[in-house]
Amino acid sequence: MSTRWSDWLAAQAQARDDAGLTRMLHPRRAEDTTIDLAGNDYLGLSVHPEVVAAAREAVAVWGGGAGASRLVTGSLVLHTHLECALADYLEQPAALVLSTGYHANLALVTALADRDTLVVSDAHIHASLIDAVRLSRAQLSVVAHNDVEAVDAALAAHAAQQPAGRALVLCESVYSVLGDRAPLAELAAVCRRHDALLVVDEAHGVGVHGPGLVARAGLGGDPHVVVTATLSKALGAQGGAVLGAPALIEHLVNRARPFIFDTGLAPAPTAAALAALRVMRADPALGDVVATRMADLAASLGVEPSSGAVLSVPMPSPQAALAAQAAALEAGVRVGCFRPPSVPDGVSRLRVTVNAGVPEDAWARAVQVLISVTKEHA
Ligand code: PMP
Repeated sequence: MSTRWSDWLAAQAQARDDAGLTRMLHPRRAEDTTIDLAGNDYLGLSVHPEVVAAAREAVAVWGGGAGASRLVTGSLVLHTHLECALADYLEQPAALVLSTGYHANLALVTALADRDTLVVSDAHIHASLIDAVRLSRAQLSVVAHNDVEAVDAALAAHAAQQPAGRALVLCESVYSVLGDRAPLAELAAVCRRHDALLVVDEAHGVGVHGPGLVARAGLGGDPHVVVTATLSKALGAQGGAVLGAPALIEHLVNRARPFIFDTGLAPAPTAAALAALRVMRADPALGDVVATRMADLAASLGVEPSSGAVLSVPMPSPQAALAAQAAALEAGVRVGCFRPPSVPDGVSRLRVTVNAGVPEDAWARAVQVLISVTKEHA
């Protein structure tokens, strides 16, 4: 590599090290017995026998990959089944499956927004939505977290300037870092009043809250609300989806570049997600296990419980968060870290995922380990 580039890379690495922000890959072994409270398999469905069997069978029937983009030969009947099942479960009229939740957000926002569109974005939204807005070149107004009045004001100002202008409002049903919820009913009412479209990312809502908080708020099928979701968290598979009106889905099929120029979702995760939906439907109490464990864990660690499956435990510095994470791992429990830049307020945190699939005795052991390491590194 040229010296110019290798010097630059070395300086970047040094700056990361100095700030305690170096990230590393830690490949997991299949035989690893560490209790995993770092992943997003909230309901433990990635290893559920029905999910595993469905993925295996899909590979036997369809092969390893979809083979092409959905608009060429990569659209499988399996995708259609999943889209119908997702739409049905999330109480939406139609769905489109994409290869990740990240793609779902990119596809939706870039296909709807352009330079003439206002995007009003909550300050805490996920990186995939931030990137989507950047790609769309839309006008952007970032409002304070969960500030409905600020959303209203931004939409009103846009309407005054561009009476025929379109507007999108972006939020998450449950925010992963702070674990709080968006005021969905209020945001939807504001969007209705301004004829704007509310985009709700349900990455952390679906499964943990059954069909998600949009459905629970009675907003499924609302013409002013559109949902994105991931299949890689509570559904234990991989992939993403956009859910809304059939006209919107048709528009995405024709205009969304992250859909059009991407290979269709592979058969195994498609079938796995379908099976996970069946399991979730058959056992509606699965999400309640997450809520109960969340309440216990939060009380044990002396922090506010999250509305989702991810508990944030504030730590004094990125270094302290890393040290606590390492100590937990040493004691057999894997947890994550939230460190800048992936925190909205610069506060580093341990990121502990509640997983309903962890057996009761392992869960109790993990809670004890976390009480001890958070005390030690507070
Ligand atoms: N939205 C949110 C809120 C997320 O947390 C994530 C994953 N971290 C995504 C979208 C992206 O989903 P996926 O991992 O399926 O790309």
